[in-house]
Amino acid sequence: TTEQNVLFTIFGGTGDLAKRKLYPSLYRLYKKGIIKEQFAVIGTARREWTDDHYREIIIETIKDLIVSEEDAIEFASHFYYQSHNVNDSEHYVSLKVLAEKLEARYHIKGNRLHYLAMSPDFFGTITQQLNEQGLVSDTGFNRLIIEKPFGHDYETANILNEQIREVFDENQIFRIDHYLGKEMVQNISTVRFANNMIESMWNNRYIDNIQITLSEALGVEERGGYYDKSGALRDMVQNHILQVVSLLAMEPPAKLSDIDIRNEKIKALRAVRVFTPEEVKENFVRAQYDVGSNDDILLNKYQNELNVAEDSLTETFVAGKILIDTFRWKGVPFYIRTGKRLSEKGTQINIVFKNVPLNLFSEDAEEKLPSNVLTIFIQPTEGISLQINTKKTGIDLETETFDLMHQHSAETLANSPEAYEKLIFDCLNGDATNFTHWDEVASSWRFVDAIRKVWDQDKTNLPSYPSGSMGPAESDALLAKDGFYWYWNP
Ligand code: NAD
Repeated sequence: TTEQNVLFTIFGGTGDLAKRKLYPSLYRLYKKGIIKEQFAVIGTARREWTDDHYREIIIETIKDLIVSEEDAIEFASHFYYQSHNVNDSEHYVSLKVLAEKLEARYHIKGNRLHYLAMSPDFFGTITQQLNEQGLVSDTGFNRLIIEKPFGHDYETANILNEQIREVFDENQIFRIDHYLGKEMVQNISTVRFANNMIESMWNNRYIDNIQITLSEALGVEERGGYYDKSGALRDMVQNHILQVVSLLAMEPPAKLSDIDIRNEKIKALRAVRVFTPEEVKENFVRAQYDVGSNDDILLNKYQNELNVAEDSLTETFVAGKILIDTFRWKGVPFYIRTGKRLSEKGTQINIVFKNVPLNLFSEDAEEKLPSNVLTIFIQPTEGISLQINTKKTGIDLETETFDLMHQHSAETLANSPEAYEKLIFDCLNGDATNFTHWDEVASSWRFVDAIRKVWDQDKTNLPSYPSGSMGPAESDALLAKDGFYWYWNP
């Protein structure tokens, strides 16, 4: 590892994301020597904090990770705080003065990473001010990391993108989708392209259907204000789920470079069929959580949550069928579902293979054997399993189905890098593989907008599901009408 030489400016430096994810990730990179002496961090937000207070906060956020107190103090000494209102152009001038001072002090050669860890409402303003007040350096790299959500629909995303593109080129923009920093999401390409047994069967001749579940056990908690305007479709499907779909569906890239991989993902997302209103009604269901219980704990309904309208029609659950119009995937449904207050927390992908042509193990040769299913466990379990049929021990010839399972050990899990750590590392290296390109964002919004439009006009068909269940009956019916069922059924 060579030391990176860089000035970070974190907009929203007092916020939840900065404290919970960004500072610990920077410290992990520091421990690995990826940032060492020639780096500085400017934290900026509205509050009036001193550098000393800021450094105390930094140390507090990394207290579970520190090797020694001196080390933590040394790390925190690279942090500087500048109080700043993003709407006030004067403040960017003082930010610039501080940036230049720190670059001289730490021998930073103009490499700047601007991290926008605050409300997306400000993204446009900040990038424009960075340009106008001369905070984009002439030497070294200038990179921008932006948090989600990137727009509210295609139109707002496009406006935001144009604002940012006035200042930064596409190759300087790193749009975060933290799912792409997850170990097992990154493993999808390895599992596919490093195993002939798998890749050669990765098409509509052998695969029956693919299922993706992102299930949360928690409800909306304190995020009601934000969530009620967003809903599960925008919050999870537009970004994380469609990103996973694109990694599963893309053609093999010529090389594992960011340009090649993103080109293939873009092509896959463009091939996702944008549904007509009739197709939306046929292929997508939404629902909202009602009262229920989990582990004997009584749970309230969504409409009674803090900062949620009591007549809210926001969906907290989505299930749908995605169709990809390519040679490879013609006829293979990608079923997706995500929701809050489901029975168990977990993200997994199930690849369901087609049956053998005849069942030799039954009187009825048409009777289906259990399918071979390849499962990729993304979180909290990380691992992979393969369901296969074997002979049951005994004098009769009976079949038995079991799982070949590999699960990352607790030790591997504990030592594996955080998503944010990997993503910041990639950005420092100028590697955009695990960030979303504008063309991916655009295709994803076009797909989601077509569904949203139908739902926004139809105020009557919002099923509910008991908190602590795996969603409404409509979600099971969606697969049943194609002769399938949700493989993961906790
Ligand atoms: P937050 O509300 O905790 O923090 C917002 C920050 O912005 C604070 O530092 C605040 O002082 C600052 N701020 C607000 N108005 C300002 C102004 N006018 N001038 C200067 N500073 C101002 O928000 P958060 O949870 O940290 O989220 C930040 C971003 O990260 C959002 O885009 C969010 O969607 C995204 N995100 C957050 C999480 C998370 O776990 N918190 C996860 C994924 C994405």
